[in-house]
Amino acid sequence: MNSEVRKKLLDAKNFLLDVVYPEAALCRGCGCVSDAGCLCSRCREELRYGSAAFAWDWRDVSGVRAYSLRPHEGIARRLVIRLKHQAEACLADELTAAMEPVPVFLSFPPETVVTWVPMPARRLRERCLDHGRLLAESAARRLGLTARPLLRRREEGRVRTQASLHREARVRNLQNAFVPAEPVSFPVLLVDDVLTTGTTASRCIDALRQAGAIEITVLTITRAK
Ligand SMILES: [Zn+2]
Repeated sequence: MNSEVRKKLLDAKNFLLDVVYPEAALCRGCGCVSDAGCLCSRCREELRYGSAAFAWDWRDVSGVRAYSLRPHEGIARRLVIRLKHQAEACLADELTAAMEPVPVFLSFPPETVVTWVPMPARRLRERCLDHGRLLAESAARRLGLTARPLLRRREEGRVRTQASLHREARVRNLQNAFVPAEPVSFPVLLVDDVLTTGTTASRCIDALRQAGAIEITVLTITRAK
């Protein structure tokens, strides 16, 4: 079968699948028809209890405890990437659902504000979805806290995509990238999708401290080795 015919057949198959199973009924984890919304029950189970090397772990980032729910691998990694690049908003709730039952060390005073790493305006326009904000708002709901933006970007034009840079360049690139949006006299929980070098979190912590924050905790869905 030549590739043109194959493509046409594939298009037809996808068209029929879309008619029979609307996009909303397909699992974002495996692509199968989902019986349970955004994720099928098998993928949801895998995210919650799967082959994770650890469930919850923390690392010190600039004197702050940075908790991560899962290693950056397997289904957790796939879903984090999909939330970020394919703007699948429903995944934010699926990912934070894996926080439950919320462990004792994640109990915060009620005045704690949950916040996120601000996304460059240009990227927000491209992606039409602020995944950091969605994760922070979803985590806040699960913790019974409020979420609001406490940081903003300083010079949007000059901050390059972190993923394209080496470690040293990442540090330079992010120097003073964030500034406080308001004075902070309450505990802060900074939520992000993935902790890699910790550089981004560290710059956010600096800016929050400038704003007066004393009690800061970081929470990410996954952590890369
Ligand atoms: Zn699935």
